[in-house]
Amino acid sequence: MIHLQDIIGQQEATGRLRTCLAADRMPHAFLFAGPDGVGRETTALALAALLLCESPQTDLAGQRTACGSCQSCRLIAGGNHPDVHRIYKELARYHENADIRNRKMQSLGIEVIRSFLLAPAGRASTQGQGKVFIVLETELLTIEAQNSMLKILEEPPPKTTIILVCGKADMLLPTTRSRCALIRFGALPHDFVIEKLAAAEVQPTEAAFWAAFTDGSVGGALDHAAAGLYDIKCDILGRLAALGPAGDVTLGESLATTSDTLAEAEVKRIKKSAGADLAKTLATRRAAAVMLQLIAAAYRDAMTVATGAERVLINADQAAAVADLAARHDPDQIAEILQQLSRYERLLWRNVAAKTVWDNVVLTCASAATLNV
Ligand SMILES: [Zn+2]
Repeated sequence: MIHLQDIIGQQEATGRLRTCLAADRMPHAFLFAGPDGVGRETTALALAALLLCESPQTDLAGQRTACGSCQSCRLIAGGNHPDVHRIYKELARYHENADIRNRKMQSLGIEVIRSFLLAPAGRASTQGQGKVFIVLETELLTIEAQNSMLKILEEPPPKTTIILVCGKADMLLPTTRSRCALIRFGALPHDFVIEKLAAAEVQPTEAAFWAAFTDGSVGGALDHAAAGLYDIKCDILGRLAALGPAGDVTLGESLATTSDTLAEAEVKRIKKSAGADLAKTLATRRAAAVMLQLIAAAYRDAMTVATGAERVLINADQAAAVADLAARHDPDQIAEILQQLSRYERLLWRNVAAKTVWDNVVLTCASAATLNV
């Protein structure tokens, strides 16, 4: 079982939590905001362990800590404490209503919040120590779902704590945000990420790339490595570096196929690990967004080289390809490409066909090259 003091690289977040815990009036609703894979959910579980422990101890540093041996602690360690409720969009699969069960889940809707948060929050806790609700991916909460939670966030039943986990706090309604104590999580040290990847048998060059690309997200880095994205990124960067003004007719097609393949693999993975159906469109958008970010990282590196900035390259493993990109574009063109790439990422979320987006990406990268010829 993880204790609050064992959370690595998030001293500011855990320090803030300690201050909250020591206060006379402990907040009942928290908003854990920060990048994916930096320990937000692990910290939420550590906080739950402390809140639900039957005999909390004081450690040598004078910090209150879960005992690790009471029944509640053992249940948390086993991942099946009946009063710790993890809430995520795929729970719709277990909804009593078949219509809701059979929907493809793209958002975290009011039905899931009603059945898995509001209803159990109104019942007594099983172990008698209180209840903790950890709501994941809250940026996917619908407005209706957020509105349904306002009352419980304002005044939860006794001994009930609600932790909302999200990427950026400003993706939630101001009325939701203002009812929660905001705890910010930052990126983890790159060396720490590299160490974790090495433990998962990822090669050092690849590990260094993911640490830099995810800017210190262990979870993100492990996911990308496991998805086999490294070979894909090496291939894409190589082809972008070789992209002449005539473009590359097969590149758009190949990028579309790759994002499709990645999405299919993700749908299968979620099905296997959680038994849930991830909407293929959502999976495709996510995969395409990561690929666009990989491409953007290459152009940010090219900008670093073109402007002679003192920054370590994300793609240090392909420095020659980055140098080729930088030699072909001036900084204004690179800035233009980066701007277009972020525009394409937004377009992906507006039902624009992935193939159209990829063709445009290639055109953008190639046409800027034309300008310089
Ligand atoms: Zn305990």
